[in-house]
Amino acid sequence: MSTKRELNLLKTFLTDKGIFEITKFTTLDFSNNLACILWFAKCNMFCRYCYNPEIVRGEGRYTNEEILEFLKTRIGKLTGVVLSGGECTLYPHLIELCEEIKELGFKIKVDTNGLKPDVIKELIECSLIDFVALDYKAPTEKFTQITKVQSNEKFYKTLDFLIDKNFPFEIRTTVHSELLASSDINEIIRDLKKRKYKGTYYLQNFLEVQNTLGDMDIPSIPVDKTLLLGDLPIEIRN
Ligand code: SF4
Repeated sequence: MSTKRELNLLKTFLTDKGIFEITKFTTLDFSNNLACILWFAKCNMFCRYCYNPEIVRGEGRYTNEEILEFLKTRIGKLTGVVLSGGECTLYPHLIELCEEIKELGFKIKVDTNGLKPDVIKELIECSLIDFVALDYKAPTEKFTQITKVQSNEKFYKTLDFLIDKNFPFEIRTTVHSELLASSDINEIIRDLKKRKYKGTYYLQNFLEVQNTLGDMDIPSIPVDKTLLLGDLPIEIRN
């Protein structure tokens, strides 16, 4: 029988709101899965080109109970759930939420900027997630300029952990030509090679949108693949 304390914890979890928005269906965001996306409010970076300022600045709007009720209606229709944002690893009830999502039979993909290596480690060691998409924002000398975060030490901890574990994951970089030159991307490629990353390196050109976190209204020139080192498989997504 559940104790009063356990019931109170359950109620706290079910009524808590971490998720700002739901994308009910995607075929593009979780390879080999029909999925939905849960967009978590808040972020611990401040990238000027961020497409989701309302999510980063916003508050959670859906209770976990509402999220789980929605997911129950998707059993047999979807196979995966993408946790994105904002930055989902900031959410204090993430482990419990993943446990509940797993109980419903879904695979879970996490989109992360890598600043919470301990959360990623716990999720993986508890077998709660199936795939990670890790943003490699910039080489060391441009990391602070692009993310407004002082140190990239925690990002590297996450990256090295995923590589050492041989966990299924991908590395990706959003490129705005005003912020990252091909020489910067080559520096990332050299670093990934040095750390023994074996997967594909995905590049995403910045696409002009009306609203960015830092009013990034300077046009961007698409990445020229011929200027990039051939040390890793590279795919440009757009
Ligand atoms: S682009 Fe930057 S600010 Fe926006 S959600 Fe991702 S890490 Fe956070």
